[in-house]
Amino acid sequence: MKELALLSPRLQKMLLRILRYDLTLTYVPEKFLYFADTLSRFPTNANIATPELEYRLVTVHALVAMSDTRWTQLQQHTKEDPQIQHVMQYIRFGWPKADCHALTRVFWDFKEELTEEEELLYSGQRLVVPDKSRKRVIEVLHGAHQASERMIRQARLSAYWSGMTSDLRSAVDRCSQCQAYARANSKEPLHPLPATPHPWLTVALNLFHVDDVAVDYFSKDFLVRQLQTSSTQVVCWTLIDWWLIQGIPREIISDNGPPFFSEGFRAKLQEWDTVHSTISPGHSLANGLVEQTIQTLKAVIWKSKASGEDTALLSLRTTPAPDGISPAGLSTERVVRSLLPTSSEPLENPSRNTWRRRRAALRDNASKAKEYFDRHSRALEPLKSGQEVWLQTDTRQWRPATPIRTFANRAAPDKFAWKTLTSIIGYRRFLNTPVKPCGTEPGYQPSSHRETNTDADSSFYQEPET
Ligand SMILES: [Zn+2]
Repeated sequence: MKELALLSPRLQKMLLRILRYDLTLTYVPEKFLYFADTLSRFPTNANIATPELEYRLVTVHALVAMSDTRWTQLQQHTKEDPQIQHVMQYIRFGWPKADCHALTRVFWDFKEELTEEEELLYSGQRLVVPDKSRKRVIEVLHGAHQASERMIRQARLSAYWSGMTSDLRSAVDRCSQCQAYARANSKEPLHPLPATPHPWLTVALNLFHVDDVAVDYFSKDFLVRQLQTSSTQVVCWTLIDWWLIQGIPREIISDNGPPFFSEGFRAKLQEWDTVHSTISPGHSLANGLVEQTIQTLKAVIWKSKASGEDTALLSLRTTPAPDGISPAGLSTERVVRSLLPTSSEPLENPSRNTWRRRRAALRDNASKAKEYFDRHSRALEPLKSGQEVWLQTDTRQWRPATPIRTFANRAAPDKFAWKTLTSIIGYRRFLNTPVKPCGTEPGYQPSSHRETNTDADSSFYQEPET
């Protein structure tokens, strides 16, 4: 037999009445039942006190654990809830054979479990919460800002309404606090840079102290210059000097540092017809090539300054990579003379074999890196221009940053960047999409009549800006 506490109040009541008797059930075939109906045809009129009923009421009250004011309010809200009132009518006067009222259809499959007690509706031991009381119930359940699954588990102990699970989930989604302290997104799949056909097409830029550094992604060759200031104008003059020698790159990759995020720099990029890809602030690892080069440069510059070497950086440029080709050799297509004895033989078919070999090596490295990296990555849903977002800050907290502008990267069409009012975000995982407009308090919208409205989030999407 089911445990008493798990039964509906109606069955509890019946069971409690017979608890005082120690019953023994014996099967008697019908032919020996001479007075089968006697008891039901002649019931006693005596009013038998049933003290257990008090216990039953205590059970029900303790389950809901509410003050009298709340209790009265709950009864009032139940009276005003057309759905519950329809169900109560059916409980009192019987459910129809078929075609029950549209509002009550969600209760049809478990109508036997429904009972009315003290003007409240119960499904088994769970209170059917009227529409107007749900907001308060959700607030209580979300008091500890628990995850939706935990709230659902807790709610299922004592409350029920149709659409409760989705209401609880969206309450968590809409909660500002939960969004602000949301966990970090997992890494996104890697988008390796496509290997360019020849050197100095994709260039990583960075400033360290006031030294401007440009690193070519193809040859790993670099240019470095000490600047007087790191103003946009000075940086642009240096870059123009370099482009005069190396040609204008197709794509520049940099962080969002002041000279690279300025209007003047943007104007120059347009003039050069160069795409600018940026990396997210505080995540300079993404610009791995240039960061790695800077580390090496720093070490070499400091050491060579101390030892009085003038040509130390040339040694760096002429040292062969594991594939046997030096950055300077690959970049200039010739033997670059250094202080070491160098062969006067030209590089074998520089524009064909060495470049082809390097392209294959770059592709190979990129696919290996992607395979390794993607094992622990997850793609996130795409964002649209004008969409409200939360941005993860350096302190790992999330804050509203709205609206964003999405722009595609021409050099890598599957790569996007997002521009908020204050910065450019190169990584989708530092952005979260809110379910409700940012900054509003945890709210609630009754769900009982919005089953078909599954596309509610689409109202936040806007067409991309042109
Ligand atoms: Zn919360």
